[in-house]
Amino acid sequence: MPPNPAFPDVASRRRCTIVALLSDVTRYAEAEVPTEYGPVRTVVYRVGESVPPEEHVALVVGDVTQASDADAPVLARVHSECWTGEVLHSHKCDCREQLDQALHAVSSAGRGVVVYLRQEGRGIGLGNKVRAYALQNEGVDTVDANRILGFADDGRTYGVAAAILRDLGVRKVALMTNNPSKVKGLVDHGIEVDSRVALKAEPNEHNAEYLAVKAKKMGHTL
Ligand SMILES: [Zn+2]
Repeated sequence: MPPNPAFPDVASRRRCTIVALLSDVTRYAEAEVPTEYGPVRTVVYRVGESVPPEEHVALVVGDVTQASDADAPVLARVHSECWTGEVLHSHKCDCREQLDQALHAVSSAGRGVVVYLRQEGRGIGLGNKVRAYALQNEGVDTVDANRILGFADDGRTYGVAAAILRDLGVRKVALMTNNPSKVKGLVDHGIEVDSRVALKAEPNEHNAEYLAVKAKKMGHTL
């Protein structure tokens, strides 16, 4: 049967989505910001033209542009926003420690990037995340709480992160993550993941079960 142009095959549709995402992600602002990690080039990207704007940030240390595939991999993390962890210093998760370790690592390496994606609560938003916490307080685990609220276990996507890395000239990364689906998400969007660098979180009495569920149900290597 000849292909029907009205219904492109899955691969073509996928390519269309990726191209749309890449052209939709634009560099909006950048400035060097002095931080406890040293000076960090803070590059803000916007996706589309929604109001309020959808903004994500790349935190860049040193020169991350790779002229060719032969260049050494760039130390990188793709980090999803966690207001409760990063602002409130909540003990329910390990996000703040991971962000802190990643920024320390790129700073001491003198070269690297942390892409900070504003997709709170594994993509369900702050309000729904706090609703999930209410369920967890009644004894439901982090994955089942999302399912009860009608969300996927993990609603995060990595096309925007790949587009941001590409805009920065990054082709190949040493990725700081414990999450295999993040590696796959970037590879699927054309970023070569040369190696995975593990991040270590210290369990406490509040997050030990959360970390165990991430390992058991979401395949994280902890
Ligand atoms: Zn968190």
